[in-house]
Amino acid sequence: MTPSQNITIVGGGTAGWVTAAVLSRYLGRNWHITLVESDDIGTVGVGEATIPQLQILHRALGIDEDAFLSFCNGTYKLGIEFVGWGTQDSRYIHAFGEIGRPLGLVPFHHYWLRGQAMPEARPLDAYSLNAVAAYAGKFQRGMPQGNAPLGGLGHAFHFDAGRYAQFLRQYAEGRGVQRVEGRIVDVALHAENGAVERLTLASGETVGGDLFVDCSGFVGLLIEGALGTGYEDWRHWLPCDRAIAVQCASAPTLTPYTRSTARVAGWQWRIPLQSRIGNGHVYCSDFMDDTVAADILLANLDGAVLTDPRHLRFTTGRRRKFWNRNVVALGLAAGFMEPLESTSIHLVQAGVERLLKFLPKGDIRSADVDAFNALTAFEYEGIRDFLILHYKANRRSEPFWRACADMAVPDSLAAKLSLFEANGRITRFNEELFAEVGWLQVLIGQGVRPAGYHPLADQPTDAECREFLDLLANAAQRQVAGMPDHAAFIASHCRASVGGAAG
Ligand SMILES: Cc1cc2nc3c(=O)[nH]c(=O)nc-3n(C[C@H](O)[C@H](O)[C@H](O)COP(=O)(O)OP(=O)(O)OC[C@H]3O[C@@H](n4cnc5c(N)ncnc54)[C@H](O)[C@@H]3O)c2cc1C
Repeated sequence: MTPSQNITIVGGGTAGWVTAAVLSRYLGRNWHITLVESDDIGTVGVGEATIPQLQILHRALGIDEDAFLSFCNGTYKLGIEFVGWGTQDSRYIHAFGEIGRPLGLVPFHHYWLRGQAMPEARPLDAYSLNAVAAYAGKFQRGMPQGNAPLGGLGHAFHFDAGRYAQFLRQYAEGRGVQRVEGRIVDVALHAENGAVERLTLASGETVGGDLFVDCSGFVGLLIEGALGTGYEDWRHWLPCDRAIAVQCASAPTLTPYTRSTARVAGWQWRIPLQSRIGNGHVYCSDFMDDTVAADILLANLDGAVLTDPRHLRFTTGRRRKFWNRNVVALGLAAGFMEPLESTSIHLVQAGVERLLKFLPKGDIRSADVDAFNALTAFEYEGIRDFLILHYKANRRSEPFWRACADMAVPDSLAAKLSLFEANGRITRFNEELFAEVGWLQVLIGQGVRPAGYHPLADQPTDAECREFLDLLANAAQRQVAGMPDHAAFIASHCRASVGGAAG
């Protein structure tokens, strides 16, 4: 039998409460879970766009999607629109879901590349059901796919981060997680093995634990403050190091996608919720000062400002170890790459799932810790490369963007680019987060064109190739025409509530 164990989570932001919810759902009566958080310190207060994998987490927790969206002021997200990332006036969507469909063994995009030489060539997003629906402002969940050539929509969510933490808190407390309120002022280590032994709060109360999950945010109270684990700084690849966040009033249309607009030395996000829009400007302090950054943000909002601008500073990178002694870091305590592809909450989800996989039975084994760290590092580095691509493959003229275009990239990314260059090949290694279709959209969207395509894409005649491409583009238009408006779908399924209960 597994001996009784105490798990202490430090922090009650999204990372802390996602961790508490998952552990409370999956760990049985031998486990006692405590979460310590400080209302005085508060949370980072941003992090409102997600990727489709969050649906897997919610299914695992038994969360009802409508109840969650209603509680969290949420909307649907079909992808991210990138404005001005290639040239200043370019625009493309990195949409979820598939693009076209393969023919035989050959991925769709090789036929699309061939079709670009034809007079009636269409852009890549004409073959993405998600992209066509996003631009039409449509949404439908659980669409009957029947014989539809393009299948159904892939979706993620936008939501209010504070409400999401509350929602998960109700869920976790309802399953026995004990919440302790207070500021941690001291972390005591075991004299012999250097592991964390106990936390002392400002009130004098102490909290022990066998395993600690550090979800304390950028400060990394245990993983860095107490254990001095070290940090790999990635600013030479991901140079933005500041952000300003502000909320504004809604626009007339409730768009079902996140927008990322490139600015002079960074980019601006736009995340539409049911009753407001979340906005932020991410920028590089070497090229822009805070006042100019705030002016740019405030001059580019769709509605009246609702909150004071919130300034955030960060260093892109990751902890040298995510699991050190008896501390596992999740969320911002583990590292931060930047919010461009909405991957941080997913990394929390993946991290806690991995923690369950390597859950210690009594003593912590170094083989488990090493495997956990290696898998997590692989996941971070795959995402890092994908993010760097957005910066590297720009064709803008400002000094910040020229510096990004000139930077040396990691060998792993250089290999991906070189694979694509000749014949448009894209390969996903092991359990990389972003699939071929994600890389494809960013590469093509930012103007990277391969010299050729797969030789087998030349097998159909010109007429057959054209017919295949037409069939798929027309199918996307037809399927989307039958979908309801995004706003109408929300109104009839998950209109925002002021209160509400967690699932
Ligand atoms: C500008 C920006 C935009 C982002 N956008 C996205 C996005 O669109 N999508 C996405 O997935 N992610 C995004 N993220 C990341 C996302 O915000 C975080 O991953 C997520 O909010 C989790 O944060 P956290 O819980 O790790 O940290 P925090 O929210 O900072 O929570 C830390 C917790 O630790 C507690 N704490 C700290 N010190 C102490 C102490 N001494 N004693 C007691 N308690 C303590 C705090 O009170 C708090 O409860 C963004 C991040 C930034 C900076």
